[in-house]
Order: sequence, then C-alpha cells, then structure tokens
Amino acid sequence: MECVFCKIINGEIPSKKVYEDDRILAFNDISPMAPTHIVIVPKEHIASANELTEENAEFISHVFVVAAKIAKDLGIDESGYRIVNNCGADGGQTVYHIHFHLLGGKKLAVNLA
Ligand code: AMP
Ligand code: ZN
Repeated sequence: MECVFCKIINGEIPSKKVYEDDRILAFNDISPMAPTHIVIVPKEHIASANELTEENAEFISHVFVVAAKIAKDLGIDESGYRIVNNCGADGGQTVYHIHFHLLGGKKLAVNLA
C-alpha cells in the first residue's frame, strides 16, 4: 500500500491527530496554508471524489459535523473557516485518498480559482 494517508491511518507514518473515530481521522497538515489547517480523511481508502457512490459517500456528512466540532474546539467557529476538497490534477489533488481541508485562523483569500 503506497497511500500516504492509509499509512497515517494505520500508524506507519506519524501525524498530529486532532480527532479520530471509527470512520474518520483528522490531523494537522504537514505544510499548513493557514494558522489552522487540518486534513480530514475517511479510514476507507477512496481515491477521490470521482470514486464516490451512494454506497460509500455517507461519511461526508460526518466529516462536516466533525469539522464544525473541531472548529469550535479550536475557537475558529465564530471567525469562520473553509472546508475544501481537491479532485484530480486541475483541482490540485496531490494525495489520492479523498480528504477535506479545514482551513481557518486568518482571513482566507476570497478568490477560489
Ligand atoms: P491535496 O493537494 O488536496 O491532495 O492535499 C494533500 C495535503 O496533504 C497537502 O496539503 C499536504 O501538505 C498534506 N500532506 C501530505 N503528506 C502529509 C503528511 N505526511 N502529513 C500531513 N499532511 C500531509
Ligand atoms: Zn489511502
């Protein structure tokens, strides 16, 4: 298994975990783009948004609920934050295990593209 996020999930690669349960793991991004930059991943390996189906996508609502909880725990719920998924080359995806970036702690760039 060459997937870096699967290796983080199974403990082969260390990470600074901020949240974990049976379905998802959240950890600090190694190369943060904002004062708060957390990566939230499903424990199931799904390569990208292109591989989502009605059967495997249920975790996504859980990701958003947990992201809101993390934001509150870190004190950025009132100031605001952004949740981002990059898909494929043009979307800027570099790790092909679907993930959501939770970004905040500063006024983020308004321009999305
Ligand atoms: P993306 O470009 O959307 O695929 O995002 C991949 C993210 O994973 C980037 O923000 C990287 O900085 C982050 N990343 C890559 N390797 C690690 C790692 N070992 N620990 C934490 N974050 C990582
Ligand atoms: Zn994986």
